Amino acid sequence: MDLPQFKYHPDPVTTGSIEARIARCICCDEIRHYMYVGPVYAEAHIGDVICPWCISSGLAHEKLDAEFVDIEGVGDSDPTSRESAPQPVREEVAYRTPGFSGWQQERWLVHCGDACMFLGPAGKSEVYALNSQELLDSLRTDMEMNEEEFRPYLDALDKNGMPTAYIFRCLHCGKYLGYSDST
Ligand SMILES: [Zn+2]
Ligand SMILES: [Zn+2]
Repeated sequence: MDLPQFKYHPDPVTTGSIEARIARCICCDEIRHYMYVGPVYAEAHIGDVICPWCISSGLAHEKLDAEFVDIEGVGDSDPTSRESAPQPVREEVAYRTPGFSGWQQERWLVHCGDACMFLGPAGKSEVYALNSQELLDSLRTDMEMNEEEFRPYLDALDKNGMPTAYIFRCLHCGKYLGYSDST
């Protein structure tokens, strides 16, 4: 069974939010070959037992009152545009999109009046591979650093260690945006 399509998180297996793993989903009670392993915000503690299909359909949100991205983190702190997204978009990101784990409370960037797609956590090599000055500018602006301060910081970025960058792309203008954090 093909994974559902997530508009704002197009490749959650590559980003590490969904893993190939056989388990029974606590929401639909089906045995699935993929499970969601990102953060779950819910009243009860819910481990890695929700399937991607229940996230996509909204069933996991309805049944378990679960959020996968903190809705307050969608758009509010976009470093470059200070844009916000319409409420239905914020709800789609929070309730029907796989989240990701950062070192701090995760943020979901917004551009052109819509949520961006999340491309994954990144270190120095992943950031350089995108070859985007706009991405470098947004990472630097977000840290409120000048060029001189930013260069060693950029070299220290680590996908698995710290600090880590989180890369997004605007669905409308194609611009890359990002922010970074550490503990
Ligand atoms: Zn399910
Ligand atoms: Zn845009």
